[in-house]
Amino acid sequence: MKISAKKSLGQNFLIDRDILNQIVNSVNIEGKEILEIGPGSGNLTTFILKRNPKKIYVVEKDNDLVLVLKDKFDNEIQIIHDDVLKIKENEIFDKKLIVFGNLPYNISTEILSKWIMNMDNNVWFESLVLMFQKEVADRIIAKSNNSKYGRLSILSNWKLNIKKITDIKPQSFSPKPKVDSSLLLFTPKKKFFKLESAKNLEMLTRIFFSQRRKMLKKPFNQIFKDSQKVSEKFNIDLNLRPQNLEPETYFELVKEFESSRG
Ligand code: SAM
Repeated sequence: MKISAKKSLGQNFLIDRDILNQIVNSVNIEGKEILEIGPGSGNLTTFILKRNPKKIYVVEKDNDLVLVLKDKFDNEIQIIHDDVLKIKENEIFDKKLIVFGNLPYNISTEILSKWIMNMDNNVWFESLVLMFQKEVADRIIAKSNNSKYGRLSILSNWKLNIKKITDIKPQSFSPKPKVDSSLLLFTPKKKFFKLESAKNLEMLTRIFFSQRRKMLKKPFNQIFKDSQKVSEKFNIDLNLRPQNLEPETYFELVKEFESSRG
């Protein structure tokens, strides 16, 4: 069957065998349960299968591609014909999974945020090997005091260890995307800062980073009744900018915000 890529579903298929090998070599697959997000026509799936996993689940939204996958793999894989943003991973899977995804760029950060927000002590994955637009990957791995550091870096660093595996050129895909990509490996942190609600972290970092060039004074006054007292408690100079604070400091500030309301 001829496959024509749908732009609306972010379809850029991986065709570079070296990269496909590098992806499946980045973690140990043998005997493990795997989840692949957006398998497309199954290029990466074929490479995963060669590494002898115990089981592969794939989540694909595109009706046409689901037919292609059924035809190509028959009962070698378990196809979940759904939108990855709608499925409840915690309820579907009972084993810890290794997750692969050459993600559709338009929803890649939404997928990652969903998984982080829903992570509790009983995490449903062992590792995530995910492809992002390079510009987005740079924001995920950015450290404080860097212009790319922001909400996404803080949220990702909250519960995950992150490592860059490689950068990938547009030529490795068909059709070629307009931008470079990066492959990242995430593993859950054994311990992470406990907050009442991940939504509070999202809300507070949104307030801070919507004025990223402004001094901290302004967002502090907006968030805390007695901002001077809070800044002294955590030894924060309010003349600094949001990018100068470490992720840990943001977690402390969210906790302070939560207890001030409680
Ligand atoms: N993994 C394949 C590869 O590397 O050749 C295809 C990757 S392509 C960048 C993204 C895939 O995700 C497409 O197959 C697309 O149909 C699928 N997709 C897009 N949005 C989705 C969604 N919300 N839920 C599940 N799959 C989605």
